[in-house]
Amino acid sequence: MDISLLINNLTSRGFLPYYFETVDQAKTFLSSLIPQNSTIGFGGSVTVKDMRIPELFRDRGDQVFYRGFPISEQEKESIFEKIHTAEWFISSTNALTINGDLINIDGRANRVAEMLFGPKNVVIVTGVNKITSSIEEGISRVRNVAAPKNCVKLNKDTPCAKSGKCSYCGLPNTICRTTVIQHHPTFGQNVYIIIVNKNLGF
Ligand code: SF4
Repeated sequence: MDISLLINNLTSRGFLPYYFETVDQAKTFLSSLIPQNSTIGFGGSVTVKDMRIPELFRDRGDQVFYRGFPISEQEKESIFEKIHTAEWFISSTNALTINGDLINIDGRANRVAEMLFGPKNVVIVTGVNKITSSIEEGISRVRNVAAPKNCVKLNKDTPCAKSGKCSYCGLPNTICRTTVIQHHPTFGQNVYIIIVNKNLGF
């Protein structure tokens, strides 16, 4: 994996990439990047959850909007508006190509919506396991690695939850409702890409 090439390609695309060897180094950087007393919304992400990034900022005293915290179902629905109007948005990506494309497949699409037309400052945190050689390989990764595992996590009765592979099910309960390939940051957004030299999330 040529990380220098990836960093150069992301920079050429207008993204703001950073590379770290460890989770702790990445978290220390994030803590210095985001000013204290910020409002920060989160997308659903196993990477972000496992790195305990929401807790990092909550314990620092920031206003954190995160559906993973123990909040009521009513609060979980109303939190989307707060996430949308926050100063920062933090999530992961389903895949990242060596050329600098972010690939995501969503069900509700709140995550991709915020990545494209949400808070001014977006932070995407990813392990090296999500780097792919092409857009096609990235989509395949999402459909045959990330989505099946997400279906298991969400208790979805989809074919991939049993087989681990996508059969383009087209079922009413599919979580694959939109595919977004992002080539550049959208106008008006600063998009930081934090790459950690670990296998993180799925
Ligand atoms: S389209 Fe259906 S089978 Fe394929 S990954 Fe999505 S939910 Fe699973």
